[in-house]
Amino acid sequence: MLFENFIRSMVMIENDEVLIKSRFVQVVEGGGNAIIWHSLFGNPKRVSVDTLDLLNIFSSPLSLNDFLNEYDIGENGIEVINDLAEAHYIIPNGFDERAHLETITQEHEKVISASQLARRLDLKLTEECNFRCKYCIHFKSLDISDRINNPEKFMSWEIAKHAVDEYVLLMKHLDKKVSRITFSGGEVLLTWDILERVVLYYKERYEFDYPCSYAIITNASLITVEIAKKLKEYQISVASSIDGLEQVNDLVRITKSGSGTFNRIVCGLDNLKDQGVPVDMCITVTDDNFPYIDERMVDWAVERGMDHLRFTPDTINLFNIPVQELVIWLLKLRAYGKTKGVDVTGGWHRPFSNFNDSALDKLCGYCTPICGDTISVSPAGLIYGCCYNTNSIGSIKQIGCLGNEKKYREMICDNVVGRRRECFDCEIEGQCIGGCSITRESSTDASNPKVTQMCELHRQMTRELLLEELTNWNSDIFK
Ligand code: SF4
Ligand code: SF4
Repeated sequence: MLFENFIRSMVMIENDEVLIKSRFVQVVEGGGNAIIWHSLFGNPKRVSVDTLDLLNIFSSPLSLNDFLNEYDIGENGIEVINDLAEAHYIIPNGFDERAHLETITQEHEKVISASQLARRLDLKLTEECNFRCKYCIHFKSLDISDRINNPEKFMSWEIAKHAVDEYVLLMKHLDKKVSRITFSGGEVLLTWDILERVVLYYKERYEFDYPCSYAIITNASLITVEIAKKLKEYQISVASSIDGLEQVNDLVRITKSGSGTFNRIVCGLDNLKDQGVPVDMCITVTDDNFPYIDERMVDWAVERGMDHLRFTPDTINLFNIPVQELVIWLLKLRAYGKTKGVDVTGGWHRPFSNFNDSALDKLCGYCTPICGDTISVSPAGLIYGCCYNTNSIGSIKQIGCLGNEKKYREMICDNVVGRRRECFDCEIEGQCIGGCSITRESSTDASNPKVTQMCELHRQMTRELLLEELTNWNSDIFK
């Protein structure tokens, strides 16, 4: 019997082993179907209510033999049980899933010392910006970061070149054939000269052997026609932000002197559009602009030929908007976006996206930087996991042996599924995995209420997106 074979191979049990529904099984029901997932291991599946009923029979311990004697489920039923066991929804009674995960995680951790997780170099070219957005994640994190003590606010060519050379050496050592360099800030275009020099240097010296993709995050205000042409020529992807239409944007996204930025942003975006450079746009939602943003923002994106918009509720400052209200508002914009061919997402989508991966297969964290994917270099030549993290994990001299660096290892090991004690038994423990580390770092207060607020948002949105999935059934997540 398939099921017996599977169980034997998984944990070497006897035929009369007593089975039970995992306590980590989570369910969202709607329209006569359900999505179930394992809050540690993921493995989401769409099932019928009949399957759910079958699963619930194992809410109390029951041996497979007793079950088969009591219920006439036929060949199909056996297959269903096999699937449920394969996804760990049904487990041998007493099977310690956390211990099982820990054993697997320790195996996966071996790739850290080989530095195999590193893939992307991020050059934080400057700590400066010509804007002073009211909610700015960069300046708020800078204030509480070890970067604040560094007098260098702009990256020198020497630091940039050194970082690139070390990074390529590491990629060579790891036998990786493709690389990725991103440029972040502050406002990266305040250092366009260094940015361009890095790209030209890389293209001349390394591009042939190690093809590279490039990306920048910019506030767009400094994108001239010339720069737009160069971005096109160098094939640099652009991510930018606008926080509403005209006066709404200007409530929160302001210059150093406090004036509005909308027209300057749009001018930069127009230059990009004229050159055919696509932009990935983000709208940060705060108490100030929330009441005024509506479907017109999606219409604006459509007019500009965009097919994706990210609405990101302020990640570090507590907002007064009730989470439930925010969730409904985001869903409304998302539904409207669908009718217009615009995919509306945001950070709230990440736990749902993380259903694509299972901690049984690899080290899984909230985002790729926390999993050691990124080497973010500050103007002082110090390394961070994400360009907004507050504490460095080394210096550029250590890029080559990153996997042996204690702080790098800790950053990953402390943030993978099953290691964050405060997340134990959360229904999306294996998908949210502690959420954004910048939110957690934004307060020294252990009871950081912002974390609680983001937890609520993540949980509610994940349930809603699963419900949406039940009705639309259009993602690759659910096999
Ligand atoms: S443009 Fe970006 S870095 Fe500059 S103030 Fe605004 S949020 Fe901060
Ligand atoms: S951060 Fe909050 S929502 Fe995310 S896994 Fe932890 S407890 Fe759950």
